[in-house]
Formats: sequence, C-alpha cells, structure tokens
Amino acid sequence: MKRLLLSVFVFSILSLIACNSCEAKGVKSKRKLAKRVKVDRTRGETVVNDSVTVVADDNITPKNIPHEGFVYVKDYIPDIIEDLRYNTTNNFMGERADGYEANRAILTVEAAKALKGAAEELRRKGYVIKIYDAYRPQQAVDHFVRWSQSSDERMKAEYYPTLTKKSLFGGYIARKSGHSRGSTIDMTICHLATGQEVDMGGHFDFFGTASHPSFVGNYPLGTVTAENKKMRLMLQHVMRKHGFNSIKNEWWHFTLRNEPYPRKFFNFPVK
Ligand SMILES: [Zn+2]
Repeated sequence: MKRLLLSVFVFSILSLIACNSCEAKGVKSKRKLAKRVKVDRTRGETVVNDSVTVVADDNITPKNIPHEGFVYVKDYIPDIIEDLRYNTTNNFMGERADGYEANRAILTVEAAKALKGAAEELRRKGYVIKIYDAYRPQQAVDHFVRWSQSSDERMKAEYYPTLTKKSLFGGYIARKSGHSRGSTIDMTICHLATGQEVDMGGHFDFFGTASHPSFVGNYPLGTVTAENKKMRLMLQHVMRKHGFNSIKNEWWHFTLRNEPYPRKFFNFPVK
C-alpha cells in the first residue's frame, strides 16, 4: 500500500513538472471557434460567419506589465506603429485626453494575442498595423463627455462638419466606452515598404456616414472610392478572422469577440 501511494505521489509530481515545462517552453495552442452569426444589439457589433482561428503564442514574455491582465502591444507585435491620438492634440477635441501620458498601446493579453495573428496575416499581404487607440482609461471618456458639453468647436471642420456638437453626445460620445474594457482597438494599416498609411478614404474619428465601412461617395472632406471601401473591407475580414467584431459605423474600430472583461471598465493611466 505504501509503495502504491508513493508511486501515485511520484507520478503526480512528474506530471506537474511536465506541465510547467510545457508552459515554460511555450506551447502554441490553437482553438477554433465554430461558425456563427450573432448581433450584439447593445453595442451594435456584428459577428460575421467567418471561421475563427485564434493562435495563442505563449512564447512571448511581456517586458513589463501596465496592469494585471494587460500588456503593451509592442511587446507582442514589435513592428506595430503607435499613433495614440488621444495622447496628442490631433483628435476631435484638439487637446490631449485625461489619462494619456505616453504613446503606448495597451490591450488585454487575450486581445494582444489575437491581434498578433491579424498582424501576421496583414504582414504577409504587405501591410503593418497602425494603432490610433486601444485601452482607454475611464478618465479619458469622462473628459470626452465634459468636452461634449462645452462650447469649444475648434476641430469641427475636420471631425464633425455636418453635425452639431450637441448631437455628438449619445450617438458618438457616451459615458462608457468599450475601449475601457481593454479589448477594443482603433487601427488602420500602412504599406510595409513605405510606412505610408493605406488610403481608406477618410480619417480616424470622422463623425459621419463617410466612416461607415461600406460607404462609397462624396462627403464634406472628399470622396470615398470603391478602392477605399475594398481596403476597409479587407481589414475587417482579417480582423474578424482573428477573433474581432467590427461595427457598422466606424471602419477602424474592432472588439475582441470573447473579451475577458465584458463588464469591467478600467481607469489606470496609459503610461
Ligand atoms: Zn474605437
């Protein structure tokens, strides 16, 4: 009996060691999600029936951790281009948003891993990802709300030429943003060879129908061509394939389908 118990004990220890060493060496795990069609009415996000493959590469050790459960995206995708607009004055407010202290994109571990898969596929097509925004602290969202109730319209011509500022709150600006849950990203792609942004026929955060991924035609700042639409839809297709939902009114906005914190809004600063 003693010998039997000893054998069981030794076997358990060996299994544990084997398991840990697998993790240490970095085992690539793949999970395929079944085809499905779903509309999330609360966020207007549509899941399209792509077969999804999420590759989780555990070889990556983040250099530092911005918050438990979160990583700096550059640790996962070193060639990613970061242009966090809310860390600058080049955004719809014309001022830096509260809570942004650095030009560093932060996402949940799960979202960063899924994005890495998308980045690899886009790289094979000749593109590199540029991030406009990722995790967004609640204090930045609170800043947007305060701004929407002020009379400052210095960026109207570039961001909301056809809309009254009052109408932005409720439609485009809300008290909560999916970005604060940490698994949502605003992005475009650049040509690998030149670093030039791909022409999407309109710019990030333009408030209007011209930002709908399927829009083609003229709008106050120019024209969205069929070629621009083709590129918007190509980006959507790749992101959906790698586990993200797109939305119908912003070609640059994607949320991880199985986000790890679906009801939690974070407020730690971006630094
Ligand atoms: Zn967004």
